[in-house]
Amino acid sequence: MKIGVPTEVKNNENRVALTPAGADRLVREGHRVFVQSGAGNGSRIDDDAYRAAGAEIVASADDAWGEADLLLKVKEPIAQEYGFLRPDLTLFTYLHLAADRPLTEALVDAGTTAVAYETVQLPDRSLPLLVPMSEIAGRLSVTVGSYSLMRSNGGRGTLLGGIPGTPRAKTVVIGGGVAGEHAAANALGLGSKVTVFDISLPRLRELEHRYGGALETRASSRYDIAEELATADLVIGSVLIPGAAAPKLVTDDMVAAMKPGSVLVDIAIDQGGCFEGSRPTTHDDPTFAVHDSIYYCVANMPGAVPETATRALTNATLPYVSAIASKGWVRAAAEDAALAKGLNVHGGRITLPAVAEAHGLAA
Ligand code: NAD
Repeated sequence: MKIGVPTEVKNNENRVALTPAGADRLVREGHRVFVQSGAGNGSRIDDDAYRAAGAEIVASADDAWGEADLLLKVKEPIAQEYGFLRPDLTLFTYLHLAADRPLTEALVDAGTTAVAYETVQLPDRSLPLLVPMSEIAGRLSVTVGSYSLMRSNGGRGTLLGGIPGTPRAKTVVIGGGVAGEHAAANALGLGSKVTVFDISLPRLRELEHRYGGALETRASSRYDIAEELATADLVIGSVLIPGAAAPKLVTDDMVAAMKPGSVLVDIAIDQGGCFEGSRPTTHDDPTFAVHDSIYYCVANMPGAVPETATRALTNATLPYVSAIASKGWVRAAAEDAALAKGLNVHGGRITLPAVAEAHGLAA
């Protein structure tokens, strides 16, 4: 199969959909890989690295899309790319179609087979192509949180782990799923005291078992959260209720009672945020004040670390890309129910009920 990898065109998107390691595997499996010149630059991967892996470098987006049977991207196509869509193309990327009517219509009109990373789902209901980004956001939340805690950045002036002879800071993680566990592990690694909240007791048992007495777990309730926040230095919000807006678990009143200079990182901001005072921010201007605390609410945190995020993405997508390339979409989907759930649009029809419902149509 011919596989195309264009340069991402969305503002500030520095990831690329395939690494040289991925290209190497696909070429060895007998496919041709066409990478647009410069596509890897934002992730510090140059054309020569792709060439060495057996990929063919093409000059323009036109060529990368035009040559492809299977087109790999990171972000959804934007209006300037709609003209590249066609019926004999399989598109594999993050799509988020429920929130994007123009793109949904463009895919339907073009008859493209559109497979979304974010709806590929394993039998245990986990989303294998979203997990790596949650892992990154979780780890990064402690980096940005500890940086914001510096007095020079408006924070309390506290080193998370302290040093021998000084108190350690306290990190409270609300939502102990993928992002929350990675946040907790990083905060522990820096020497912080860590408390993790979740509504799932089985999940809290799992975390206790894994980290022993190193971290404290608490069942999530308004009362308990307010109590822990009063003594917290860093709070990380990482809850998720699949398919719903994040619940507002931290009210402005709770924040008013927190220590001055404390820092709150709302990872769940891409689902509306789990703190009452949250609003989306950007990497250019990531923080703002609520009472005497600092909020960090960047909705695309992995965008700060494209070198890592690109590799993480290919690690997760490559088995599926290889299956589609080797078997064609129809057979690959028939043999893998998880991958089949990725199909959003096919043959001029929306195939995913959630997307159809979002646009008031039948799937
Ligand atoms: P996950 O499903 O693995 O974990 C969410 C956890 O929240 C679950 O353990 C769940 O039991 C818990 N939860 C639900 N309601 C709760 C409540 N009331 N109190 C306490 N815990 C509760 O999800 P994840 O993959 O870790 O993602 C977490 C959030 O991070 C999501 O909103 C996701 O969209 C977001 N995210 C943001 C970025 C970013 O750049 N900002 C990047 C990746 C993921």
